[in-house]
Amino acid sequence: MTLMSMHEKLWEMANNLWWSWHPEVNNLFAEIDPIRWSQLDHNPVLLLREFQPEQLEKRAKELVLHSRVNWAYRRWQEYMASTKTWGGTHAGVLGQRPVAYFSAEFGLHESLPIYSGGLGILAGDHLKSASDLGIPLVAVGLFYTQGYFKQSLSPDGWQQEAYTQVEIPTLPLEAAHDKQGQELRISVSTRGGTIYARVWRVNVGRVRLYLLDANVPENSDEDRHLTARLYGGDQRTRIRQEVLLGIGGVRALAALGIQPAVIHMNEGHSAFAGLEVIRARIKEDEVKFDDALRDAANGCVFTTHTPVPAGHDRFNNDLIEEHLGPMRDELQLSHDALMSLGRVQPQDHGEAFCMTVLAFKLSRRANAVSALHGIVSRRMWASLWPWRSDDEIPIGHITNGVHVPTWLAPQMRMLYDRVLPSNWSQRTSDPQMWADFDSVSPGELWETHTTLKNGLITYVRSRQAIVARKNNLPEHVVEELGNVLDPRVLTIGFARRFAPYKRAGLILNKLELLSELINDPERPIQLVFSGKAHPADEPGKRILQEIIHISRDSRFKGKIVFLENYDISRARHLVQGVDVWLNNPRRPLEASGTSGQKVVLNGGLNCSILDGWWAEAYDGSNGFAIGTGRTHVNSDIQDRRDADDLYRVLKEEVIPLYYDRDRDDLPQAWIKRMKRTITTLGWRFNADRMVMDYVRETYVPAAGGLSCETKVR
Ligand SMILES: *Cc1c(COP(=O)(O)O)cnc(C)c1O
Repeated sequence: MTLMSMHEKLWEMANNLWWSWHPEVNNLFAEIDPIRWSQLDHNPVLLLREFQPEQLEKRAKELVLHSRVNWAYRRWQEYMASTKTWGGTHAGVLGQRPVAYFSAEFGLHESLPIYSGGLGILAGDHLKSASDLGIPLVAVGLFYTQGYFKQSLSPDGWQQEAYTQVEIPTLPLEAAHDKQGQELRISVSTRGGTIYARVWRVNVGRVRLYLLDANVPENSDEDRHLTARLYGGDQRTRIRQEVLLGIGGVRALAALGIQPAVIHMNEGHSAFAGLEVIRARIKEDEVKFDDALRDAANGCVFTTHTPVPAGHDRFNNDLIEEHLGPMRDELQLSHDALMSLGRVQPQDHGEAFCMTVLAFKLSRRANAVSALHGIVSRRMWASLWPWRSDDEIPIGHITNGVHVPTWLAPQMRMLYDRVLPSNWSQRTSDPQMWADFDSVSPGELWETHTTLKNGLITYVRSRQAIVARKNNLPEHVVEELGNVLDPRVLTIGFARRFAPYKRAGLILNKLELLSELINDPERPIQLVFSGKAHPADEPGKRILQEIIHISRDSRFKGKIVFLENYDISRARHLVQGVDVWLNNPRRPLEASGTSGQKVVLNGGLNCSILDGWWAEAYDGSNGFAIGTGRTHVNSDIQDRRDADDLYRVLKEEVIPLYYDRDRDDLPQAWIKRMKRTITTLGWRFNADRMVMDYVRETYVPAAGGLSCETKVR
């Protein structure tokens, strides 16, 4: 082996996102230049570009980094080469033909802005766990050159959106090449012309993620911007993006010589992939459409993610004919036959084409993302199978989980290292393993939590000061803003997308009551909010503005704080440092929710409506429930009731428990609940368990289904 320089080793590690879930590598980058590291969005490619190799060598010598870099590099090489994995034993049938995981967004790290919220983070966590477990899986998505927007606020608290073009060389992207060694180009024809895309490759541990990018000279000016923004533009932009993702994605894999055994559609955005599989099958084997459809559906898995109508794309006749016309010619389908694949009532000419319906019709296996969401989805889509009763509707559920190494605070990880079995990180889905956490000393757990909470407050203060300076506020205001929040006060976090059903403003329902809680002289509370509203979501923006206005009210100043520009980095700080995580969606609209699961790992307590994952997680002693799960057809009444229940649980349960201290100022009963949350929930709501479920319940059967059919033929 030739000797590699420090620069080369760090550079290689920077080009595989594996570094992002290994704090020891993270720290190496941070130590090279802590200030630049935080200014550069924790992007090691950008950081390393600022150093000449000799300069870096010198810096490494000063900081005595050599042996740590060598050690990290060796660990990474071992990880990449390891064959003794869970997937090696349990996903063998997949063999050389991987699962292809399709998603419109991937939330892997704050420096790669191709995600907007929970769906993307979930996809990112799925890839990381698939890599850790050694599952043969490749992923397909779109590369958005402007990503999702950066959020700031007008003086009046109205959300402002800014888009910046990312420079390719500043990201861990490599151009993908075809079998002839040429830079890969794929294309999809429409009635109005052809859309071209190039393909980038991102390394996520052992998993390769391919991102299609329409910004190529072959495209019209309009199409060069097609993939500029995630969830931007109108219906036409949306269908063109989805044609590229689904059809273009399958073509990209074929051009790369990858023949997936299973297609996993993460949400309906990528459902056109199934049509391309059918088309290829017909072309290859000259089978009839119906036979090709049955065959393709055997190998397709679909995960539906929301009961909220806006989450289900619908396209009219003209858009479908323009973009799927050439496809239906090859499939030899009439326009109406194609449309009927996207309709609940195939003969209803007034019904638009729905991507979710298409996905259900093209997949033999489909699942919702929590037990409750399973029930809701079976009811919601029952008319697709009119001859079946509700419990026979073929939609199962696999509850979402989060990637432990990504969301666990380094300080908490050290505690895990001390009290859990030494191989704990390979056994996160094992309840027995987590049971050991019960033996942690209360003082030690509380001290770790307090350190993390102080870290969060310091972070929020510095962000407030930075924003205030940027807005040219007078220095005394900057100082005041840099002093918000009190580390001794019970701190409640609320951060997620500002979709109205999530009801960010619920706790503001009765300001008098809230003021009493916040300004209680003995047992006060304080709130940190964060989150973006979709640019077209006026009601969401109004909720955000209301929170800003209230946070400036003299009763709440410094005690209700809004942290701008919610992203993965801010999420990490929040989920690791809060005492309580508040989640109050309008049941049953939160299909799963995952941010509360990140909080669990770090010892924070969830206070949540019994919706999504919390409906199956809460057992009376591992967090707090708002209400009992009952709903009302009138949403105003439901909101009012839920707000009352929220105040009640805060006043009667959360606050007394938090401030009940022993002689050493330890809240013993609270700490017991922290332990309960980790021991009862850690093993269930993590992404390793989730990916294992997908492998056993969907990937392996789907792959088997395909190979069986092949044998019969
Ligand atoms: C986890 C996460 C989400 C999802 O939050 P929910 O409460 O599940 O909606 C959204 N955005 C970011 C940045 C996250 O880290």
